Amino acid sequence: MKISACHCRECQRRTGSAFEVAVYWMPEFRKDLVAVALGCFEEPSSLVPTQSVDEESRMGWVALDLRGGD
Ligand SMILES: [Zn+2]
Repeated sequence: MKISACHCRECQRRTGSAFEVAVYWMPEFRKDLVAVALGCFEEPSSLVPTQSVDEESRMGWVALDLRGGD
């Protein structure tokens, strides 16, 4: 399992936010993956992203402290 913060334009448009908060979707770029938004979990704060993807679309004011990445 990989926990990622996605900054792509598709996630921004779908959620109306700076990065993903959607309930469920199949990423267009990886047909072999199923993504589930952290907001779907009972305690989303216990699941910390370890990577940030689609950085080229990241809003300049978004700053993430990604610890424990592999
Ligand atoms: Zn995305």
